Amino acid sequence: MNKEIIKFTDASIGYGNTVILSGINLSIMENDFIGIVGPNGAGKTTLLKTLLGNIKLISGKFSKDSLRFGYVPQRDIVQPILPFTVFDVVMMGRYSLSGTFQKINSEDKKIVEESLAYIGMSKLKDKNYNSLSGGQRQRTLIARALAVEPSVLILDEPTNGMDTPSHYSLLELITQLHNEKKLTIFLVSHLLTDVANIVKKVILLDKNYFQFGPIEEIISEENLKKTYSADFHVSQVDGEYIITPKHLKRI
Ligand code: ADP
Repeated sequence: MNKEIIKFTDASIGYGNTVILSGINLSIMENDFIGIVGPNGAGKTTLLKTLLGNIKLISGKFSKDSLRFGYVPQRDIVQPILPFTVFDVVMMGRYSLSGTFQKINSEDKKIVEESLAYIGMSKLKDKNYNSLSGGQRQRTLIARALAVEPSVLILDEPTNGMDTPSHYSLLELITQLHNEKKLTIFLVSHLLTDVANIVKKVILLDKNYFQFGPIEEIISEENLKKTYSADFHVSQVDGEYIITPKHLKRI
């Protein structure tokens, strides 16, 4: 039986006295695979910042084990000006542990090499990060997060702007990280169909609306309407979810 590693009880979160989300009750178990879904400005980033310990609760309770987080930011916000190689970028994961640019040792190098090998980027390690395709950059950022040797991995919109094969191969990699490396994963995504088919549990949120549970309990036309103030079709074909907006008009 997996143990509980993160718990929110009747929590309100936000900035200063401004509550962004309230009524948060959340119990996260080791090796959970969780989607975080909600409209822009709903509070997804605020929830992540609270999880990471960057902002404090306004009220309620929050506890977590001593966890090590690997964070994969949105690809487009990582644009190094300096000509960092793929290896350099992944090594940043090691530096982030000590907080300084201290001398790297052979153990750090070994972990970086292993992270690159795991995501299939060893051959490209001396390439300039900026010269890579979107899919390769995303893999590099995942390798950087793995170099932290995390127990919890947070991915923010990892497939944004990717072509279809890269998109699906990245989703496969994320699933593999969950199954093989037994990581607890939080996946922030706007792509409802992807989330419903990949993760096992979902946090569905909007301002002052917070739901958490297994996909089959939470992903419903009624709950999506409450979250997005829009109508969706939720159907299943051969066990796969298909979620589409209703009333799509051709113009
Ligand atoms: P999402 O990630 O779902 O798009 P955010 O968590 O970034 O949403 O934002 C939720 C709300 O919090 C928004 O209304 C936003 O304006 C507000 N917000 C975000 N950052 C801050 C901040 N540093 N101080 C005050 N309000 C903020």
